[in-house]
Amino acid sequence: MVVIKYLYIGIDDTDSPDGMCTTYLASQIINKFKDNGIELVDYPHLIRLNPFARFKTRGNGGVSLKILNDDKADFARQIVLDEVEKLSMFDCDNTNPGVIFYDGEITKEMEDYAFRAIYEFITIEEADEFGKSVGCEIHKFKKGRGIIGSIAAISLPLSDCTYELLAYRSSENYGTKRQIDYDSVYLMDEKTFPDTFENIDYSEDYIAIEPKTPCPVLYGIRSNNVDALHLAKSIVKVNEPIVDWCIFKTNQHTDMHIQKADRISDMNQFGCYEVVGEVKNKPKIIDGGHMFFLISDDSGEIECGAYEPTKNFRKTVSHLRPGDIIKVFGGIGEQNTFNIEKFQMLKLNDIEYKNPVCECGKRMTSAGKNKGFKCKRCGNKVESSKKVPIVITRNLKNSKFYETPVSARRHLSKPLCRMDLN
Ligand code: ATP
Repeated sequence: MVVIKYLYIGIDDTDSPDGMCTTYLASQIINKFKDNGIELVDYPHLIRLNPFARFKTRGNGGVSLKILNDDKADFARQIVLDEVEKLSMFDCDNTNPGVIFYDGEITKEMEDYAFRAIYEFITIEEADEFGKSVGCEIHKFKKGRGIIGSIAAISLPLSDCTYELLAYRSSENYGTKRQIDYDSVYLMDEKTFPDTFENIDYSEDYIAIEPKTPCPVLYGIRSNNVDALHLAKSIVKVNEPIVDWCIFKTNQHTDMHIQKADRISDMNQFGCYEVVGEVKNKPKIIDGGHMFFLISDDSGEIECGAYEPTKNFRKTVSHLRPGDIIKVFGGIGEQNTFNIEKFQMLKLNDIEYKNPVCECGKRMTSAGKNKGFKCKRCGNKVESSKKVPIVITRNLKNSKFYETPVSARRHLSKPLCRMDLN
């Protein structure tokens, strides 16, 4: 029996806020592979890791490639190291590339490491030790922090996945306004949503496929399947050259960062969770436009925040009232506040108890302790001191999910259009 062996290649931390993108570097490597008859097995993977990682440039993404471990594998390794050496933004203090080669099976232990890289913080030393223990060949450039993400990028199983088509610009256009025909993006969204998603934020008139940084990416289109990406690319028109494009298989928009917490007290700072709680107070906007409220359960309470960039989502949040039971999805950040990505209304507290209304139409006032109510306008009295239940109608429905807009969405957050809500 012939046993097919693979070589896994992980690359991370090659870019800086001033330029480059590890996906572009990967696409250059893939081109060199093709020129030399080296084929990828599967799409390249773009793996988003812990959204709270301290040294991320933008979205904390690592890349991995899988090829046959045959007589060309050594040459492939050389191509990877040469390209990382040539294209990484070494001048930036925070750019510390790491490359991993691994020619064994991906083990459960490695998968667990990958989930740890999504849920927790890992040090360079820990990653180094772990990589060596499982037999990775480790290449560190400068501090080599990239090995943390590289090992995770080769190890993460993709039980749920999405795809992203990234189109790259010509280098002389880096840093200039991207020449994308916005009307064609609206048309593309009309023709391909919900197979593609996160294209446009209609509430903000924001074109989400266009990056806002000086990186080589011209646009990125996200989808549940590859066919829709090809269709989308044929619809989007641009007025500048596309020098290359590449489709990545990713864990974006899968909620892979979300851990189920049974109780509020089970959650830790810098972790991302779903948890159920009772709304304790009316959400309030503070300076800067951020909105906060408390939720609680038997184990404790936590402050939840809908931040200014979530725009109209804050309006939805403002309808919450004490006694509502909600399930929140999101992460606990710097200020120990639960940063909401979406919530599900589990039980509306839609009954409010008020003084009765008099025959004349005016709401009555208390006539004193246990003395019932009286009407200030016409003097009518009722003996019962029981308040009457009033059903409050709000723009919120039981079981329904409410999410932040596309413009404020985390790479890992699963949008409602990807959730089976039936
Ligand atoms: P881009 O979105 O353009 O790819 P980025 O936001 O991915 O940029 P990187 O340049 O990849 O930023 O830097 C992120 C750094 O954080 C990498 O060195 C990566 O190895 C490291 N890292 C990833 N996950 C963790 C983690 N769980 N704990 C600590 N460090 C991590």
